[in-house]
Order: sequence, then C-alpha cells, then structure tokens
Amino acid sequence: MLSQHAGNIRVLAGGTDLIPSMRQKLFEPRFVLDLRGIGELRGIYPQPDGGAEIGALTPLSAIERSSYLREHYPVLTEAAATVASPVIRNMGTIGGNICLDTRCLWYNQSLAWRKGCGFCIKKDGDLCHVAPGGSKCWAAFSGDTPPALLCLNAEIEVASANGMRRISLREFYPGDGINYRNLQSNELVTRVFLPAESAGYCGIYRKLRVRGSIDYPLAGVAVAMKRTSNGNGIGRVTEAHIALTAVNPAPVLVKSAGELLAGKNIDEALAEAVGDIAARTAKPLTTSALTPEYRREMIRVFTKRAILAAAQN
Ligand SMILES: Cc1cc2nc3c(=O)[nH]c(=O)nc-3n(C[C@H](O)[C@H](O)[C@H](O)COP(=O)(O)OP(=O)(O)OC[C@H]3O[C@@H](n4cnc5c(N)ncnc54)[C@H](O)[C@@H]3O)c2cc1C
Ligand code: SF4
Repeated sequence: MLSQHAGNIRVLAGGTDLIPSMRQKLFEPRFVLDLRGIGELRGIYPQPDGGAEIGALTPLSAIERSSYLREHYPVLTEAAATVASPVIRNMGTIGGNICLDTRCLWYNQSLAWRKGCGFCIKKDGDLCHVAPGGSKCWAAFSGDTPPALLCLNAEIEVASANGMRRISLREFYPGDGINYRNLQSNELVTRVFLPAESAGYCGIYRKLRVRGSIDYPLAGVAVAMKRTSNGNGIGRVTEAHIALTAVNPAPVLVKSAGELLAGKNIDEALAEAVGDIAARTAKPLTTSALTPEYRREMIRVFTKRAILAAAQN
C-alpha cells in the first residue's frame, strides 16, 4: 500500500502527533496506513550478544517501565519517561518518536492561524518567517528519545516492498526542517537496535519545556558516560557521548565533548567547559515562544548539570 500510494499516504503508529497535525491540515493525505495491528513490531528483545532490539511500535511507556532497559540503557528510559504525559506515552511509539515531524511556532498552528499570519515554505507558502530571505526551513527536531539513541549509537531497520536496510541513526537526520529524515515515502521504520557495546553507560536526560507535565522539549540534553571504578565509586571517564535535541533541525551529537571528558575526573570546571561546547553546537532560532538565547543558555546549564549528575551515579 505504501508503494502503491507513495506521496499520498501517511503511516499511523500511535497517532499522537499525526492526528493533531492532520486536524491542523499540516498533513492532508488521501490514505492513512494504521500499523497498530502488526504485533511483530511491538516488544523489547534482549539479544544473546548483550544488545537489544526494540520493535518500532513499542509504546514509550513500555520503554520507560522496562527494567532491562533501565539497567542496561538508562539514558533511553530517562528520555522516554519525559515525553508528553502518561496517556500519550501509552499511545505514542518509539518509531513515531524517531520519525516525528520538526516543529516551529509558524507551522504547528491551525489552518486559520497560518492563513492569517502567512503560510511558510514548510507548508503552503514561499517564505520563511524565522530566516527571511533564505530557502531553508529551520523548524526544530523535537523528539526526546533520538538524542538518547544517538548517545547509544543505535541503528534502525527500514523496510519497503524492495527489501530491508539497516542504518545508523546518526545518518538518519539530514538537518533540514522539511526533509528532516532519510526515509522514502514507501518506507517504514521497523526496528531499533541497541548495540551491546553501548550497554552499561550511566545515563541522564534533561529537558526544558513550557508545561512541565506534558510538553515537547524546547532544549534537551542526553548524556551517556562510562567511568573506571577505583573502589571509591569515583573514577575517570573512559567514554562519554552527549547529544542535543530541539535546538537544531536534527538531533545532534556534541562532537568534541567525549574527547574533552575522556581520561579525566569530573569536576565543576570540566562540566562547565563541556556545557560551553554544547551551547556552541546548539543553533536555536525563533521557532518557539522561548528566545533562542534562553534555549542556548539552558543547553549550557543542563549539560553541566547532567554531567555532574552522571558523575554521582
Ligand atoms: C500534547 C502533546 C505533547 C507531546 N509532547 C512530546 C514530548 O514531550 N516529547 C516528544 O518527543 N514528543 C511529544 N509529543 C509528540 C508525540 O506524542 C511523540 O513524539 C510520540 O512518540 C509519537 O509517536 P506516535 O506513535 O504517536 O507517532 P504518530 O503520531 O503515529 O506518527 C508520527 C510521525 O511519524 C510517522 N511514523 C510513525 N511511525 C512510523 C514508522 N514506524 N515508520 C515510518 N514513519 C512512522 C508518522 O507517519 C508521522 O509522520 C507530544 C504530543 C502531544 C499531543
Ligand atoms: S523555520 Fe521557517 S519555513 Fe520552517 S516552519 Fe518555521 S517559518 Fe516555516
């Protein structure tokens, strides 16, 4: 069906983002393909090599509550637990969170609002209100679990009538607000793979949002870190990964953070220095009601706090 109606069909997993977007006339597909009956795409499966496989239709609440994931991949359970509200996490899936559309103040509005204020290039218009004069859309990728998955070096399986492909999540987001994922219109995300080598990192996720109980991130930081053990429970960092969400058109890894942390004991000055690098990686624009300056500053603050919290684990 996806191949037959490519371009005129949308996939529905939990529907928690798709349905509101269709009501706002952001998506106007002729057909909707409801995946919810495909039981094989639901579940968390620890692998014999120590890794794990997660079906794309697995609800975020199952990820949040999984004692296996909490023990081996805590940054993912932490991030999943912050998505929206308990009711939405029961409906919303990990695949839907990975494939979530990018967001912008000028875009996530009703048709009447967008008509009144002016359409933009992401939908129905020919200019960008955020960066006038340019032809790129800067809408922010605002999913909570993808930065955690980037830290874990996760891969995803993509299926179509032509077969399967497996790609690193790090290659899935091209960084454009309109073409925000490397997925053809006849393709589905079917599974997420967590490598064995990424198990056992302590993990922290921090996010900024307007309504603490139910909102998308306006800045988010995931930290996954491994340290040596010296008997006191305090050791040097052996490996660390930091990723951001909601401040760029894609979730992004903070590239030099791991190098700066490796081999060192964590203290306030080091955590602050990494916070500075993270803030420079964040490129928020006026895509939300909170100012870009505040969101970038909160990336600095949350990165520092998350590193110090990881050091307590
Ligand atoms: C009030 C509210 C608050 C929210 N807060 C947050 C938040 O804090 N953090 C956050 O990350 N999200 C938030 N969301 C968005 C959403 O609930 C989650 O991102 C959720 O994980 C989406 O999953 P879903 O299964 O419902 O996706 P759907 O709505 O079914 O789909 C989302 C998009 O992904 C596509 N898609 C879904 N599954 C697949 C697949 N397997 N293969 C290919 N394409 C697919 C759909 O076609 C659609 O474009 C919020 C939503 C609401 C309504
Ligand atoms: S960044 Fe520009 S083009 Fe993209 S949704 Fe916002 S206003 Fe529209």
